[in-house]
Amino acid sequence: MTERPPAAPCTARQSARRMCAHCKEMTDTPIPVGAVHQNSRPGWTVYACPEDASLFLDRAGLWAALMDHALTCEPCRRTAQGPGCAVARTLHDSHRGAPEAGR
Ligand SMILES: [Zn+2]
Ligand SMILES: [Zn+2]
Repeated sequence: MTERPPAAPCTARQSARRMCAHCKEMTDTPIPVGAVHQNSRPGWTVYACPEDASLFLDRAGLWAALMDHALTCEPCRRTAQGPGCAVARTLHDSHRGAPEAGR
């Protein structure tokens, strides 16, 4: 399982480019990693690029992000096994490398 075919381009629907909360780069494939809440006004969602999502999300959160992504990404929907695009692969690798919850 070390050989990897080239990743298909991600076709996940994205409403807009977002700035990553960590590296401050604009990303076409923002991962929602949290919400900022304020007392008197609605909060907003914080986004990160796929590479940095693991800095904000725990193991379960990375898996949820991967599932969310696969819902809107055509290559990911068509593949039954493993990540279907480069974004999913990054999330998948981050999830696999994340420590188990509670340790
Ligand atoms: Zn980033
Ligand atoms: Zn994908």
